[in-house]
Amino acid sequence: MAARQQIVIIGGGYAGCLAANRLTRKAPQAAITLVNPRPMFVERVRLHQLLAGTGAPETPLTAMVPDSVDVAVASATAIEDGRVRLDDGRTVDFDHLIYADGGAAQAPEGALAVGAVDQARTARRRLAGLGAGATVMVVGGGATGIETAAEIAAARPDLTVVLRSDGEVGATLSARARRRIDRELGRLGVRIERGRYDGPDTADGADLVLWAIATEVSDLARRSGLAVARRAGCRSAPIWCP
Ligand SMILES: Cc1cc2nc3c(=O)[nH]c(=O)nc-3n(C[C@H](O)[C@H](O)[C@H](O)COP(=O)(O)OP(=O)(O)OC[C@H]3O[C@@H](n4cnc5c(N)ncnc54)[C@H](O)[C@@H]3O)c2cc1C
Repeated sequence: MAARQQIVIIGGGYAGCLAANRLTRKAPQAAITLVNPRPMFVERVRLHQLLAGTGAPETPLTAMVPDSVDVAVASATAIEDGRVRLDDGRTVDFDHLIYADGGAAQAPEGALAVGAVDQARTARRRLAGLGAGATVMVVGGGATGIETAAEIAAARPDLTVVLRSDGEVGATLSARARRRIDRELGRLGVRIERGRYDGPDTADGADLVLWAIATEVSDLARRSGLAVARRAGCRSAPIWCP
């Protein structure tokens, strides 16, 4: 009898959970292991709600994937030939590997990354402790920045919310969508500022700075010696995009 195929999925986000569900149906005979640092699935697109105190976007991973999937709560530290090393000392063998560890959100000094669940939780506590009249600066004029600024302004009308971007807010959207965003942000009292945030010296007295930019990718593949490509659009060198 042929040995069971071993499939390892690194990352229990949207991509990893979808893969686990589909593979269970497509390859019911395979043994699937899902590796993720936390036992929870984090709905990253709702992390701005977590920090604004308007949502709780976490669900146990075991509720997201079929019972037959083995959930290994650990971080993958290296991909080797047919084997993944985990940070708890274990190794998991694979015939097929799915690399779904998502993007990394790394904020500069003095800011908290909206896209990282632990920092979003810290931001929630800091936000809850701010008194009326305090200023929150959200850095990043993309969808995450727009959503974060709007969510905070709606939940905490007593705060001053500044959305700072070095480019046009919603630059990738249509002119019509940009007009609507401008209107809604204005209605919520969000102040749009053109400029960069490069550290505490550039915070202009803001009491809390939130980093709503996530362009870094994980370097697990590169660290593991896999071929990766450098791609235009990454924020700063040297960043390697698989
Ligand atoms: C506030 C916010 C709003 C957003 N809104 C939108 C939106 O409206 N529409 C949209 O399309 N996108 C949006 N995005 C982007 C979207 O969240 C990402 O594109 C999406 O999460 C990518 O899914 P993923 O499964 O590839 O990665 P993730 O969801 O990031 O999942 C990756 C998983 O891999 C795990 N992992 C990382 N490293 C390792 C490792 N070494 N070993 C094991 N596991 C590891 C992580 O812990 C995580 O659980 C938003 C993001 C944020 C932060």
